Amino acid sequence: MYLKNVLLKYAGIAILSISFSSIVISCSDDDSNSPEENGGAVMMVDPEKGNSKVVWNYTNLGPDVWATLSTDFEDCGKGTSQSPIDLNTSQIIKKGPATGLTFSYKMNSALVALNNTHTNEFKVEKGSFVTFNGKMFELAQFHGHAKSEHEINGSQSPLELHFVHVAEDGELLVVGVLIDEGEENENYTSFWTEENFLETQKESVEQEVAGTHDLSKLLPTDSDLYQYGGSLTTPPCTEGVNWNVLTEKITMSAAQLSLFTDIFNNNYRPVQALNDREVISTEEEDVL
Ligand SMILES: [Zn+2]
Repeated sequence: MYLKNVLLKYAGIAILSISFSSIVISCSDDDSNSPEENGGAVMMVDPEKGNSKVVWNYTNLGPDVWATLSTDFEDCGKGTSQSPIDLNTSQIIKKGPATGLTFSYKMNSALVALNNTHTNEFKVEKGSFVTFNGKMFELAQFHGHAKSEHEINGSQSPLELHFVHVAEDGELLVVGVLIDEGEENENYTSFWTEENFLETQKESVEQEVAGTHDLSKLLPTDSDLYQYGGSLTTPPCTEGVNWNVLTEKITMSAAQLSLFTDIFNNNYRPVQALNDREVISTEEEDVL
């Protein structure tokens, strides 16, 4: 079951009409695999999925040709609200903290490490949420792109993580954080280890991560945010995604970054046109 099968379009806006339970079913690349079969008792969800039957990548079947690979991927070419974008701080409108995001992530979450051939991902046990404009979105998984997909004033970072959340009605919200090389990041060391970065195979491979993990420390929850309406950055490039990119970058050591980039070092989509969209931030407007 894939997103493409359940999209409805109203007035040019893609509406995700999936029920929460059907997203849970879609957590495996293999339709015959139930969540119970690949995660034990822990239910995992994985909404940021493309059509795994159509081969795409970041090289010979890369972002420039995604839209030609399947009619289901047409938003990758024709969409006008695509992600990622360059976050040009001179164009961003500061609206203050009223448009903030509240995090409620589990401090003892189980994880499943997944290499889905496009990225390394960590599927998250149910029970971690964000609240955005009074609506709850559940954290499903987080994964990386190297280099970063979003740029800040035209500059990429070595890595960007996407924390993918889904509401009960299927609406998506992604929190992005850019990661620069610097101090070792101790908040990630319980699972950001060599054994949890699986070699790429022809098909997805996954394994349970030992122990439980404090997700509440993975992001600086007091950071301001850049907010805009965009899309999935992978096929089918579905629009209607609430994007929140942290204004504050985090660091990882060179060794930590290498765990990811030794497997994926070119899995980013270039920035897309902003068109008539507005990017706002939760920063207070400068008082002159
Ligand atoms: Zn992503």
